[in-house]
Amino acid sequence: MRDTDRALVQAATAVAKLRCRSDNHTVAAAARTADGRVFTGVNVYHFTGGPCAEIVAVGAAATQGAGELETIVAVGDRGRGVLPPCGRCRQVLLDYFPPIRVIVGSMDALRAVPLADLLPDTYVWADHQVAEPRAEARPVPAVPRAEARPVQAVPRAEARPVPAVPDSRQAAED
Ligand SMILES: [Zn+2]
Repeated sequence: MRDTDRALVQAATAVAKLRCRSDNHTVAAAARTADGRVFTGVNVYHFTGGPCAEIVAVGAAATQGAGELETIVAVGDRGRGVLPPCGRCRQVLLDYFPPIRVIVGSMDALRAVPLADLLPDTYVWADHQVAEPRAEARPVPAVPRAEARPVQAVPRAEARPVPAVPDSRQAAED
């Protein structure tokens, strides 16, 4: 941990205290560029899959024309401390900023680790894209006409029972 890493944790902690005061915003992230600019963001919770704080911070940095992000950290509301990035964020961060470092660990044992260490046997999106041109070369499989496909009966959504879901925020505190 460098002094700048500790400062980044303090920045995310300050945003979490100041801005994470409802169920819509529960995590704050702070990211730093190589030249020392810091960008912050909070998650935008929504049942349709609102973005995590890390992704919002990446967007904020892009909005301000920042270059490569060098280090990032997320801090939970209500004193939950530093939170490791979820799987989706790990993949996004790796694809956007392959050398990025992530601050993880408990508050008394924080450490900055290369993101790649959090994603063993990494899937690198760019490595799996087929080089252009490809549209002409790819054989088009014969597909039966949509009209000919039988339509399956779907039970009405109203009839489906809704399972009780425990409050994940409560569970995270345990
Ligand atoms: Zn995430």
